[in-house]
Amino acid sequence: MTQHPESTETQAENKQGIIRVEGMHKWYGDFHVLKDLNLAVDQGERIVICGPSGSGKSTFIRCINRLEEHQQGRIIVDDVELTDDVRHIDSVRREVGMVFQHFNLFPHLTVLENCCLSPIWVRKIPRREAEAAAMEYLERVKIPDQATKYPGQLSGGQQQRVAIARALCMKPKIMLFDEPTSALDPEMIKEVLDVMVELAGSGMTMICVTHEMGFAKTVADRVIFMDGGEIVEEAPPNEFFSNPREPRTQQFLQQIL
Ligand code: ADP
Ligand code: MG
Repeated sequence: MTQHPESTETQAENKQGIIRVEGMHKWYGDFHVLKDLNLAVDQGERIVICGPSGSGKSTFIRCINRLEEHQQGRIIVDDVELTDDVRHIDSVRREVGMVFQHFNLFPHLTVLENCCLSPIWVRKIPRREAEAAAMEYLERVKIPDQATKYPGQLSGGQQQRVAIARALCMKPKIMLFDEPTSALDPEMIKEVLDVMVELAGSGMTMICVTHEMGFAKTVADRVIFMDGGEIVEEAPPNEFFSNPREPRTQQFLQQIL
């Protein structure tokens, strides 16, 4: 396997608390959606978040790159505290890649253009250099031959791999995944999970909201279970699956396993 730049960096530093969430609360109007969340993620750690629909998983990870704002407590990403300061928000968005359930590719741009847009306009990388780097990432997600196509010409699994490559083109320190396989036909889930497993092996810091429990078992350092806007339980996968402590976790696992 080729050595990727981020793997050498992360292995050298192994920084503690690259993400720190302390006593964080969020409301949508009167609705208290996130309640006293606390989480510290070290560089290179892989976290899986699971929990019933509506438990606040998406809202939580969207707060980590400030797609949503929190009202109380602290979120610190790579030593930058997320506040209203737009300079902080911009710097955090550059370091944090996000992959959504519904790919969110630009339909009017080719695969290669989708991948190069932010490197060129946000990171100010010369086009030729950005394209060369994008081709390397498209190779890494095993679709370099699709570079000149438009998203609508690709399968769901291919589009999601483009979305991952596009996020990686910004050379993020952290990758957030929000149910990246739940909109895919079953036969395409594996090709996306394979890419995520490879990424995990390269030392990337990852937070993945997913109900792919096989993925959680192989890749996660810790599994977090959320319910009703709270972190109910947190444990290494073998402990989480074989010996869940909280009744709500037990009930959830019975439903999905
Ligand atoms: P999950 O990802 O675990 O399914 P979400 O974070 O999407 O949960 O949603 C948590 C709760 O917040 C749900 O009750 C949802 O209806 C509500 N919610 C999500 N987004 C908004 C919003 N923009 N405004 C108001 N309520 C919202
Ligand atoms: Mg969600």
